[in-house]
Formats: sequence, structure tokens, C-alpha cells
Amino acid sequence: MGGSLNGAHIPLPPVPPHLPSSLNRLWEVAHNLWWSWYPEARALFEALDRTQWKLTSHNPVRMLREMSPERLAAVAANPSFHRRYDGVLLAFDDYMERRSTWFARKHPEMVDSLIAYFSPEFGLHQSLPIYSGGLGVLAGDHCKESSDLGVPLVGMGFLYPQGYFHQRISADGWQQARYEPFSVSDAPIRPAVLPDGQRVVVQVPVDGRTIDVRVWQVDVGRVSLYLMDTDVESNAPWDRELSARLYGGDQENRILQEIVLGIGGVRVLHALGLRPTVFHANEGHAAFLMLERLRDYREGGLSFEDAIEAVRASTVFTTHTPVPAGHDTFPFTMMEKYFMPFCTSLGIGREQFLELGRAPGSNDAAFNMTVLALQLSGHRNGVSCVHGEISRRMWAHLWPGMSPEKVPIGSVTNGIHVPTWIAPEMRKLYAKYIGPDWMVRHEDPTLWERVADIPDIELWDVRLSLKRKLLWHVNECARQRWIHGEVDPTQVLASGTLLAPQTLTIGFARRFATYKRATLLFQDLERLKRLLQDPWRPVQIIFAGKAHPADEPGKYFIHEVYSMAKDHGFGGHIAFVEEYDIHTAKFLIHGVDVWLNTPRPPQEACGTSGQKAALNGVPHLSVLDGWWAEGYNGANGWAIGGREFDADPAVQDAADREALFQILENEVVPLYYSRDADGVPRGWLGVVRETIRSVTPRFCARRMVKDYTEQLYIPASQQSLSRR
Ligand SMILES: *Cc1c(COP(=O)(O)O)cnc(C)c1O
Repeated sequence: MGGSLNGAHIPLPPVPPHLPSSLNRLWEVAHNLWWSWYPEARALFEALDRTQWKLTSHNPVRMLREMSPERLAAVAANPSFHRRYDGVLLAFDDYMERRSTWFARKHPEMVDSLIAYFSPEFGLHQSLPIYSGGLGVLAGDHCKESSDLGVPLVGMGFLYPQGYFHQRISADGWQQARYEPFSVSDAPIRPAVLPDGQRVVVQVPVDGRTIDVRVWQVDVGRVSLYLMDTDVESNAPWDRELSARLYGGDQENRILQEIVLGIGGVRVLHALGLRPTVFHANEGHAAFLMLERLRDYREGGLSFEDAIEAVRASTVFTTHTPVPAGHDTFPFTMMEKYFMPFCTSLGIGREQFLELGRAPGSNDAAFNMTVLALQLSGHRNGVSCVHGEISRRMWAHLWPGMSPEKVPIGSVTNGIHVPTWIAPEMRKLYAKYIGPDWMVRHEDPTLWERVADIPDIELWDVRLSLKRKLLWHVNECARQRWIHGEVDPTQVLASGTLLAPQTLTIGFARRFATYKRATLLFQDLERLKRLLQDPWRPVQIIFAGKAHPADEPGKYFIHEVYSMAKDHGFGGHIAFVEEYDIHTAKFLIHGVDVWLNTPRPPQEACGTSGQKAALNGVPHLSVLDGWWAEGYNGANGWAIGGREFDADPAVQDAADREALFQILENEVVPLYYSRDADGVPRGWLGVVRETIRSVTPRFCARRMVKDYTEQLYIPASQQSLSRR
């Protein structure tokens, strides 16, 4: 049985009785998300029943439970299926038991390290709807890559029994949020139990009562992820609801969720018998973990000052947004309500406690989670070079007298988990021309010089086939909604059924926060019409993304986009695809021709969807913000505007809109439609190659997790071990 890097072995849910015993390890593989990034395992599940595979949105646990015994018996009798099954199991066992990982080879002195990675969301797979967007997907990719590299890490998060909302757009263009209870038995999770078989449950004291928290486990390759959930019978009804939804409730709900995440999380690790050397808070939502650890050290006999030093030495904190409203704050009264008993166990007064979440000398009227995290962590980073710089300026007042360049916040630029985000067709093309082992060496830049060897025709054929696949998916989704009588005919058209595979296709998919400026092009409708409706060189744009249910301006943006998609004047060249999740994201980033990003600078901390697109040969067209400020080299896509930003948003928007139209009209469209005798756009494919070559090895999660390990985890772990 596989060796996870950490944690106990926890039994699987019972194997469905109709699964033939000769295939029973399919159940085990389905319960380790490793299958989702190992191509042959994915293909094996698909081969079980191609239609079920699609109908379940690639969910092997659900598929194995629902498949007919006849179909399973037929597969079990098929020798070629058995050969593939044996091959996948061999690879799985080899992966799980491999001792010679990058981490083990490179840092043998650090075998006793354990990193506990706390995040409010994890985006691992569509069958586990506990993420809302970029932050979660990044956390998911971080876990997968840590597993691949052998970095000893456990994840700590929440199981939200109703997850994040599902998105529908009404006929009049407004986003409808639907919450669906998700079925635990259809997801690759199981109750976490102790070696004696007892269910792991911890208690979190709040405001004079106790909340019971139970724990689930998800296997992400060799990494274990623990998810907490308060829907326990012994809890009061309102406490049972507490963890129901991700970002669902009011401020009171939020502080309680964060108390459970931070304080409960530390207790869960204790209960499991794990002793992390490093605690990594991914974003400020988890920062209460630092208070719980302070309390532990105080109870262990350290002075308050020594306890602070001990927590700092072993804590890593990553900040994720340069937008001030993106940082959680709680009124002092609310903090007092929940934390007065804490002050007693810390042996400090109210004022001193509140200072932990307030900048020195400031007259802020609220407790700021980012300030708390920055003050109690000794290893801090932003998520791109520009974001690091901005964070140093933004938080310089926490280090009075220090010049901004010296402020101790570094940066590690985000990257993407390559095996997760590569399209199978591109993977095969790279295997043929870059090298059969390209996937295990993908962070090596010299390897990617070989993109020059991919013949134009083959590259173009694969790109076109991925676009057809995307349009097929869009059509199927529209057909399902139409069959179920959920939409009217204009909605069928607005969802992309008129899109054409030969047309230059721009993708714009992201959270509908206003700073992302989804409607930038709509401020000159006549010019946009001319661009999209050109009979010789047409252009189409696919939009997708959710707005937070409480974000009225964001929902208004969706409404505006949807109106354009329904407007016959655009002739079906604008589409809005509902329910942007990891599944939809894959079709989009694989299938479009250009990935567009228009955040109002400098508000994009990093952005990762453009990296996913680039990996698949989709050039990026973006403002020079976030990762693109590092990634753009003049030949691998296009930059909207320069590196200087105007402080007046209206001026900046007008300038960026003009620049964007000009790039589209004068560069992108002509290059795409300039074909030679065989219809292949040679110049365009030059940009595609340069995109793949320059982006893949630098903006991958492998480079990212190695950076985290060497710049943050190892120093923190050394300090932590030396104190033991
Ligand atoms: C990658 C991804 C994101 C984050 O992309 P950004 O570029 O930061 O907008 C959000 N949602 C999903 C579903 C993703 O896959």
C-alpha cells in the first residue's frame, strides 16, 4: 500500500459490491487525485465508459458507483483493458513508493520537516467544489506539485458541504447563484480516523460555547489534505451551517469560519499526531493559526516575546492581493467577543492583543488579518515581482523607519501544475518533438528550444482540433440546457452555438471583479462591431466567469456582456459560457487562439490562467501587470500599454482601450489571417512557439514549489528544528 509523505493510512470507503474483484484497485486509484494528472489513469477511466465519463464530468468515484454490473463485467473480461489497468497500477505504486524524489535528493538533511499548508480553498478537481477561483486553484496546484517533488507537505482546509455556487444566467442576463449540496460519496474523500479507527473530531471554543469539527481526508498523490466540517450532530443548528458555503455568509460567519480554519486546523494537526516544522498561511484568512500557536507556546512556558519569536521563525505567509478591500478586517468589538478568553491564556491585555492586527501607531479601527499575518510570520512573500514590490510599499508602515525596498516581503511568482493543465493532444505533440520524457523535465529551459522542431502543419492541426473540441463542448452544454427547457432560443445563441472554428477566437475567462475590466472593449461598440463582423477576417470572443454573489458591480458587468452576446448586431461573435470552473477552464484555455487579460494595473497580483493557456500554445494579450510584467519578451504575445500607469482610472481605461483595439486591428488579426498556399499561418505559429518556449519552464508550479522550498520552507524549517 502506498506511502504518503505524512499522516496515517486511512481506510477507503467500502468498494462498490458490483466492482469485479479483478478490477477492485480502480476504487483505490479513483480515491487518489493522482489519477487526474496521470494521463494513462485518466484514459483508463475514460475507457471504462466514454459516455458516463462525460456525463459525470470526469468523476471516477461516481462513475464506479453508478456503472452497470454488466458493463463492468464486460470490461473485466477484456484482456487489453487489463493490460492497461496493470500498467496504471504499476505506475501508481511506483509513484507512491518512490523514495528518490527531488526533495529527498536535494535536501536529505531536511527529512524531519513537515509543512502544514493552510488555505481557505483548494481547487483540485471539479468533483470537489471547494474553490472559487485563482487562490484555490493555486493551492491545488501547489499540493500536486509538492507531491511530485516529494516536498513533505499536508494541506489544511474546509469541506464546504454546499461548496461554491453554481452559475446560471437568466433570460434577462442576471447571474443566478445556485447552491447544491454535494454528495460526499461521489467525491474522492473519506473520514479521517485515528489508528484505533476513531473518527477525528476536535473542539474549538468560541464565545462561551464549543464547536465540534470533524475531519475528512483527500489524497493528492503523496500529499494528504485535511478538510474540516462543522456539520456535526452535537453542534447547534447555526454552527452546523457554519461551514456550509465558501464565502457565503456575513462577517460574523466569516470570522467563525476563520477561527475554525486557523485554530481548529492547528488542533487537527495535533489530533492526528503531526508536528509540522513550518506553518504556511496561504492568504490572511488562515492567520488565526498563528494565535493558536502563540497560545500553545505560552502554555508550554515561553514568555510572550519568546512565543512570538518562535511562531515567527516557523511561519510562512503569502499575501495575494494588492487591492485594499481584498484584505479581511474585523471590528474590534467582534474580536473582543471571540478573543477575550484568548487574551487570558496569552497573558496579555486587550490593547496588546488588538495591536497584533493593527499597524504600529495607526488609528485603524479594525483588526486586519493581513497585518496579523505579516506581524506574526518571519517569512513573507507576494506572488509576482511587481506584486512583491507593491506589497513592500503597501505595508511599509508596519516597519516604521524602514525604506520600502528593505521591507521584508519577498516574492515567488505563481506557476501552474503542468500535468494538470496540458491538453492531451499537446502532450502527445510535445512527447513526439520535445522528448518522450518532457513532462518530467519540463522546468528545463533548454528542453524547450526544441519547439522549433514541431512542424507547422502538425502544430496548426492540433491547435485547430482543440478549438473544435471547445466549440463542441459549448454546443453540448447549450443542447443540454435546451433539452431541459431551461433556456429560451436567444440564450442558446448567446451561449456560443454560432461560434465558428475557422474564426480567430479570443478567450476572456476570470472572476467578474470590476478591476478586471471585462467590458473594456464595449466602450466603443461601433469599432468593436467592425472588428468582430469583418467578413474576411472575423473575430469572436468567448467570455466566462462568476461574480461573487454580493458583488453588484461584478454582476452588472456580466449583465452587460450577456446583453452583447444576445445582440444580433454582433452576429453570434460574442458568447458567454456559464459555470466557469476547472472543467470549463480546461476547454477554454486549450481551445481559444488568444488569451485576453485586462486588469486595471497594478491590481492583478499575478494571474495564472494566461500561463495555462500559454502552456498549450495560446499567446497572451495583456496589460503588463502580474506575471506578464515578467513573462512578456516582445515576441511571445502582446502587451497592452506600458509599464507606467495613470492614477486616474478613467484616463488609464481610455488609454488601454485604444491600445487594445490597435493591437487587435493592426497586429493580432492580420497575423492570424496571413496564410500561405496551404492555409497555414506561419507568422502566427512563430508567436505560438515562442509562447510555449518562453513561458512553460518559468511559470510552472515546479519552479514555484522549488522556490518556496528553498527560499521559505527550508530556512523556516531549520529555525524551527533548531528550537526543538
Ligand atoms: C486558473 C483559474 C483561475 C485563476 O486565473 P486568473 O488568471 O487568476 O484569473 C480562476 N478560476 C479557474 C477555474 C481557474 O482554472
